[in-house]
Amino acid sequence: MRKQIVSANWKMNGTLEQANQLLDAFAAAALLVDENRIAVFAVPAPFLMLAKEKLSGNPYLFAAAQNAYSKKSGAYTGEISVEILQSLGIQYLVLGHSERREYFQESNAFLAEKVNIALAFGICPIFCCGEPLEIREANTQNQFVAQQLKESLFHLTPAEFSKIVIAYEPIWAIGTGKTASSEQAQEIHQFIRAEIATQYGEQVANEVSILYGGSVKANNAKELFSQPDVDGGLVGGASLNAAEFIQIINS
Ligand code: PEP
Repeated sequence: MRKQIVSANWKMNGTLEQANQLLDAFAAAALLVDENRIAVFAVPAPFLMLAKEKLSGNPYLFAAAQNAYSKKSGAYTGEISVEILQSLGIQYLVLGHSERREYFQESNAFLAEKVNIALAFGICPIFCCGEPLEIREANTQNQFVAQQLKESLFHLTPAEFSKIVIAYEPIWAIGTGKTASSEQAQEIHQFIRAEIATQYGEQVANEVSILYGGSVKANNAKELFSQPDVDGGLVGGASLNAAEFIQIINS
């Protein structure tokens, strides 16, 4: 059975004081989580250990990194390695967020290297894919996303592929308040799962969690997450509001 996952993405937001407050609220909340329904918190790197410690009382809450470099170690000032993350006990890592692709020129090929090293260090990549507005308007989103999957992920073995999580995030819906309709989300999630099935077979395709991201809020989470191929969400803005994000997790 594939996992249902809600992941917060705090991006570059929050002070230490705010991080403490939010994490305390999540640690104390009555969350509907268990071994098949987990919550992940992708926090800014300086808060990783704090998040890990604060969430340690609940085995179904995980701290995650928002990025890591493609090399094991070395003279890469300012970067974070998966070896460092592994040594901290971090188990999840967001890769290929559209903001990284746009502002830091991360290509599909470069992301393939990051996926490889994350898996080599036993860290689960939450691999983001999704199309910009002009691609959606041209109705070529399926081809666009298929290319992202092919160039960053489809070199993996079936065993490796079973360990990753995919987040479909249409760029036009991220931070814009525009959400994909539940039908639009289901349609492309089903397409992504079919592409995985063609490459790796039905069994692997049915094991991989595919999250939806793009202006998920407390008032639309339930409907989005109830779609058969939507296995949870990657949530930016709304994950910085404790009450709202608790509702989203419990959706
Ligand atoms: C994100 O950061 O991945 C995201 C989907 O942001 P938002 O929920 O704010 O659209």
